[in-house]
Amino acid sequence: MPELSRRTADFTDSVIRRMTRISNQYGAVNLSQGFPDFEPPKEILQRLAEVTNEDFHQYSITWGAKNFREALAEKHKHFTGMKIDPNNEIVVTCGSTEAMMAAMMSVTNPGDKVIVFSPFYENYGADTILSGAEPIYVPLVPPAFNFDADVLEEAFRQKPKALILCNPSNPCGKVFTYEELKIIADLAEKYDTFVITDEVYEHIIYAPYKHTYFSTLPNMRDRTISCGSLSKTYSITGWRLGYVIASPHIIDTVKKVHDFLTVGAAAPLQEAAVTGLRFGDDYYEDLQRKYTEKRELFINGLDRLKIPHTTPEGAYYVLLDISEFGYENDIEFCEKLAKEVGVGAVPGSSFFKESENRYIRLHFAKKNNTLNEALNRLESFRKKMSF
Ligand code: GLN
Repeated sequence: MPELSRRTADFTDSVIRRMTRISNQYGAVNLSQGFPDFEPPKEILQRLAEVTNEDFHQYSITWGAKNFREALAEKHKHFTGMKIDPNNEIVVTCGSTEAMMAAMMSVTNPGDKVIVFSPFYENYGADTILSGAEPIYVPLVPPAFNFDADVLEEAFRQKPKALILCNPSNPCGKVFTYEELKIIADLAEKYDTFVITDEVYEHIIYAPYKHTYFSTLPNMRDRTISCGSLSKTYSITGWRLGYVIASPHIIDTVKKVHDFLTVGAAAPLQEAAVTGLRFGDDYYEDLQRKYTEKRELFINGLDRLKIPHTTPEGAYYVLLDISEFGYENDIEFCEKLAKEVGVGAVPGSSFFKESENRYIRLHFAKKNNTLNEALNRLESFRKKMSF
């Protein structure tokens, strides 16, 4: 048999998605892969039911249905203050996973370097490999997950084509401050580098933290490729609706990459999601309230159990420090946790470039009942996880 592609030879499957399968196998409360178990907003579901009987069953325009792009441009203007052209500055994709891949393939050539902060969302590693680029990892150092500006500049000196910025950050929950973003922006300008953002948690932020859209920093609009998604904001991760927003000359290429990768996102789902894109401010305020309550419930529960953990500023992930157990392999730890304690988690090592075995990631995008059930099960954490 002929050889399979060398490009994929070093791939493992996604550890995040694998942990969902393992959780299901043991009937664990699955707090590994980040997706809600509560219903999306009723208005969106109602519109979806109507759309079934309307004329949305064939391809939409490849870079996204007009209606969707117009609604997105309006929402974007509302939150960023930036007016964008829905025809020339947006591509609607199959989730932000495709958005990120299309962005990477649009700007990098094989051998180009790309800066990735570590810990990072595991897809970025695969994205760089698939696009032939080489990652340069810059540590976000625990426990505060700050970066050293000199180390970052050292990475920029290697002339990277792009930097990937996940803000609010998965898995560490960091929300980059304006000052930190300004350091990145100044370096991107000095070394003439694109910044590809992953801002899927833009609306999941805990007071007093605030999200700054990278493209709104001085001079950054033209070199920022913003990737976003409806998955987390409207609790519709299975709909796979994401997008790229960038200036017209970049979007022109992203449109072509996207067209040949997937042709387009699902037309009926785009139409139904327009309802969400047109929600007023109250929707986003409610969402923040709901997630703030879940964060409190979950971290208070962990405190009661005396399990050391990070407290996220944004997004919905918590890293638990498991160093007291002395496991050499956090994958083994998570398998045992699913099997013996009945809670699904993601091994922290799948997010870190550095050899880091100290963390496991849990998320709290779940009904309060589900979170309470997970906390109940975690009462036996120490007893069952000790050697
Ligand atoms: N972003 C979510 C996570 O980190 C879901 C990832 C995925 O499976 N697409 O868990």
